[in-house]
Amino acid sequence: KENILEVNDLKVSFNTYAGEVQAVRGVTFDLRKGEVLAIVGESGCGKSVTSQTLMRLIPSPPGVIKGGSILFDGKKGKVDITKLSNKQMESVRGSEMGMIFQDPMTSLNPTMTVGRQISESLIKHQGMTKEQARQRSMELLRLVGLSNVEGRIKQYPHEFSGGMRQRVMIAIALACNPKLLIADEPTTALDVTVQAQIIDLMRELSVKTGSSIILITHDLGVVAEMAERVVVMYAGKIVEKGTVDEIFYDPRHPYTWGLLKSVPRLDTRADEELIPIPGTPPDLFAPPKGCAFAARCPYAMKVCVEEDPAHTQLSAEHSAACWLLHPDAPKVERPVEVGG
Ligand code: SF4
Repeated sequence: KENILEVNDLKVSFNTYAGEVQAVRGVTFDLRKGEVLAIVGESGCGKSVTSQTLMRLIPSPPGVIKGGSILFDGKKGKVDITKLSNKQMESVRGSEMGMIFQDPMTSLNPTMTVGRQISESLIKHQGMTKEQARQRSMELLRLVGLSNVEGRIKQYPHEFSGGMRQRVMIAIALACNPKLLIADEPTTALDVTVQAQIIDLMRELSVKTGSSIILITHDLGVVAEMAERVVVMYAGKIVEKGTVDEIFYDPRHPYTWGLLKSVPRLDTRADEELIPIPGTPPDLFAPPKGCAFAARCPYAMKVCVEEDPAHTQLSAEHSAACWLLHPDAPKVERPVEVGG
């Protein structure tokens, strides 16, 4: 499959009074057409900053792209997102990218009817007339599973339930037939049954519309349900990436082992103990010279604090950055049988 997005050695920092926070420190991955790729990690690992940078939504200043490139295969061929002017970027964002946030209440305008919120972007970016936009808004609401759409478009966000509002957000994100959808914790604010419905809906829509999706989440259950490939981030870097099966059933990085034990998954049994990863991520004002996970890693060796490990390729899709994968490293047993 062709790539819709190629992110190469992306570096993003925030300049604060206390100094430079290196939030994203050289991230490389690609996204294929029609694929769902998950980016996972604890809060502060750089997953949200990465996704916001893809849409150039980081506040700047203080945010600044320090290096790397983001090639997006849009309507006008391949463009480097990092090099577009704000105006060019606004047009790409409005007509080729969509974003779904965690809490629709904060991203929907409470004073505007739902119909008008969907229509606005259609009129602005697709050049539709008011009536065309009204028709298309109803179509989109039907597509995301709402009924009685003639009445619905006249209602305000507070008249909808949490799950319904998330459906409206998805309709807005889909309004411009985006090639790329970024969903940042799309189900976190919802209760479990509604979560499952929204996951089903997003999965179905990505098949129907052919949009590629980047799913940012800390919820591995959602990852297992939706994604084809997974990128695991820690302290602003990718520590492991691979197919969902490789990450769940054959994880190779100690951080991924910890992550799989520390967060609930859809198949977590009630009697299964969740073990938080001890310690905290490193200070990104002054990231460590060696492996950023060394201070929390039970397997850390001398080399780990001295030199940052490069990625070792384990299969066509699977790679991890850990000194344990070096041929001379001592063999360690994975702590418990993870994944299943
Ligand atoms: Fe642990 Fe060393 Fe691997 Fe880092 S490189 S995860 S410290 S074993």
